Formats: sequence, structure tokens, C-alpha cells
Amino acid sequence: MPLLGAHVSTAGGVDNAPRNGKNLGCEAIQLFTRNQMQWQARPLSKQAIAAFRETVEECGIRAAVSHDSYLINLGSDDPVTLQRSLDAFADEIDRCEQLGISSLVFHPGSHVGAGEVAGLQRIADNLNRVLQRKPNYRTQLLLENTAGQGSNLGYRFEHLAEVLARSQYPERLGVCLDTCHLHAAGYDLRSRSTYEAVMRDCDVAVGLDRVKAFHLNDSKRGLGSRVDRHENIGKGELGLEPFRFLLNDPRFAEHPMLLETPGGDKAYRRDLKTLRRLKP
Ligand SMILES: [Zn+2]
Ligand SMILES: [Zn+2]
Repeated sequence: MPLLGAHVSTAGGVDNAPRNGKNLGCEAIQLFTRNQMQWQARPLSKQAIAAFRETVEECGIRAAVSHDSYLINLGSDDPVTLQRSLDAFADEIDRCEQLGISSLVFHPGSHVGAGEVAGLQRIADNLNRVLQRKPNYRTQLLLENTAGQGSNLGYRFEHLAEVLARSQYPERLGVCLDTCHLHAAGYDLRSRSTYEAVMRDCDVAVGLDRVKAFHLNDSKRGLGSRVDRHENIGKGELGLEPFRFLLNDPRFAEHPMLLETPGGDKAYRRDLKTLRRLKP
């Protein structure tokens, strides 16, 4: 059975994340290690780091994953935004390393008018620059597929493949697939045959062995809408079948699968219950 969980709050301290996860019945959690709406962040204290590591153990959390700040854009051509992005992203990686977090999910970035080819190249180059500064780190960076809103890149498997191909550190990179984003980007997971076709496409472009985690979200918007609006499991355009296929797919039997659905803890509990029922 995959490791089911959710994106949980760190309000009051990072070590509250595993506690919140345990209260929801999570085996895996996702968290922000810094305020996702601010460029600046105070360093983590020794106590906070120790408390987080202990609490993960105590709460039986088998996988802790981080998600980067929404402000970061590794595709930016504005020197100020780019420098801030590089610094913040480097800090995200440092924090994961300190906390013993095995993977950091990040959005590739947007091209802000430069075009997709130039944007992808810039993202790959900037990723190389950051990773060069962080040798011997264990945290894996997982490129997340996106819905393709605005000039966001990463809504095609080929975009992810392009960044991976240009990386000087491919062994430090992986992929996180978000079901809502797949749907919004036009990848149809709703029938057995289309699900298998999407997985084949992904395998050809990036390799399924590169997929290390999933975001399980239903979608408020239709197939190919390129709009990123998460919905509770089974309540949106995806319905239950895509989640049934994923949860029972032996290729992903050990993967963290994390909810980012709306409605807070009550809705998370309902969504987790719905998901667990899909596994015979
Ligand atoms: Zn996501
Ligand atoms: Zn989303």
C-alpha cells in the first residue's frame, strides 16, 4: 500500500507537522519548511531541528516531503527575482537537509514571456547553479508537473524531461505527479485505458522510475482547462477511478501519496477515508 498522507500545517513550529499528520492518520506528510509567501525566513534553531526529527519518529511518519515556496521562479529573467529565487531555493534545500527530509517538491517555474524553450533552458541552468553550491546533499529534488496556468512550465512530460536532460545532477532529481495538474493539462486518467496511456507517455518521456511521489487531488476544472483548482477526492472532474488505479498500481506501491485538497482537517479525514476504501 502506498504511504498515504496530506500537506499539513507547521503553525507553531515545524515539529507540529508530524503531530498534525499523526492526528489525521497519515503515514506520509508534506510541509513547508518556511513561510511560503515570504522571501525571508529565520534559520531553523537546533531545538526545532531536533524536535522535528524526534516527532517524525514518534508519530510513525514514514515519509516527510517538503514543498517549496510559491514565490520562487527559477525561470525568471528579472535579476532581482532570480537572485531571490536562487537564494530561497538554496535555503529550502538546506532546511530539508537539516530536517532529514528526503525530498523537496518544486514547481519548475514560468517563462514570463521568454517562450517555453528559453524558459526550460533557464530553469535547467539555474537548477544546475543551485545544486553546484550544495554537493553531497541527500535531499532529492522532485519536479512537479503543473496545470500550465499562465506561463507556467512543466505541464507536459516533455518539459520535465527537458529539465532532467539538461541537468548536470540527474541523480539528484526526480518527479512528483499531481493528479489535478495532470487533468488540467489534458492528461486523462479516468478510464483504465487512458490511465495506462498516460503512464506510458510518462514512461517514454521521463521514465516511471523517476516518479517518486504523487499529489492526490481531484480537479474542479475540466480536462485540458489549464486551470489549477483542487477539489476533494471524488467530488470533482476526476471522480474516484483515477485514484483507484493509482492506489492499486504495483509500480507505485511504496510511494508517498499526499493530499492537497481544500477544506482543512475534516475534509482531509474524509478524503483519506475515501482513498483507503479504494484499496481492496
Ligand atoms: Zn501539487
Ligand atoms: Zn495545484
